[in-house]
Amino acid sequence: MSEGSGRAPKFPLRLDQVDTRPTARAAPLLRPQRPVRDAALDRERRATPAGLGLDSHSVRERMLARLQAEGVRDARVLAAMRAVPRHAFVDTALANQAYEDTSLPIGLGQTISKPSVVARMIELLLAPLPPATRPRLLEIGTGCGYQAAVLAALARQVVSIERLKPLHDKARANLAAQRLDNLRLVYGDGRVGHAPNAPYDGIIAAAGGEDVPSPWLDQLAPGGRLVAPMHDVRNGGQVLVVIDRLLDGALRRAFHEPVRFVPLKSGID
Ligand code: SAH
Repeated sequence: MSEGSGRAPKFPLRLDQVDTRPTARAAPLLRPQRPVRDAALDRERRATPAGLGLDSHSVRERMLARLQAEGVRDARVLAAMRAVPRHAFVDTALANQAYEDTSLPIGLGQTISKPSVVARMIELLLAPLPPATRPRLLEIGTGCGYQAAVLAALARQVVSIERLKPLHDKARANLAAQRLDNLRLVYGDGRVGHAPNAPYDGIIAAAGGEDVPSPWLDQLAPGGRLVAPMHDVRNGGQVLVVIDRLLDGALRRAFHEPVRFVPLKSGID
């Protein structure tokens, strides 16, 4: 979608939370089924293309170090991005670039955002929320599902909308392996938001339109924040806009850096 701009996490991938090792008493002589956790780690290792020459853990750590060097400070964002295997969301042929700071094609003319843009936008999104908050979030533009997985790693609940059915299906397949039970994928026109789960503490868009659709503002909780690319009327191109709904209900808008995202389109396909 876009361009422009230490510890192992507790929450994200459910497998990390469950100790599936057999107890000493239960450990059978024959173990036809390996512990789920081992199998998952194995699968991840196998999925890492040979060209990386490294396991995905160390290349991911390098991505994290780069993000920190660029000024990403929010521990929630860093932990979530450490937890999600970006290479599992791109085509095998591109997986060796998965931890570079680059956007990559995901099909149908769409792209997965650069990690630095994902980090920057989520950091902005969370900034007004107290660190202990597990927010309810809405994402417009699921794409391959990578950012949705990062959001789900730090949120109480995430709804993510995609208007292209093949990408919605692809994201569903990619995300199945992540076993996130707090993420809801919706196939539809994200310009209308998703009223059934509103209001949201944060709304983040991965596609930019002429302006910010009013349903997004209606679905933003007091104290919540919206981060989206939108057309820059003054300079052309796109700019990142941040809109806060203050506790008294008023809206406050600020413009940040120029960005380049795919267009926010109408209807579904
Ligand atoms: N967050 C995604 C980025 C995907 S690119 C990722 O991590 O891969 C942006 C996506 O926004 C595209 O898939 C595009 O189809 C989608 N999009 C554009 N307009 C939309 C709309 N009105 N509703 C929902 N999705 C939309």
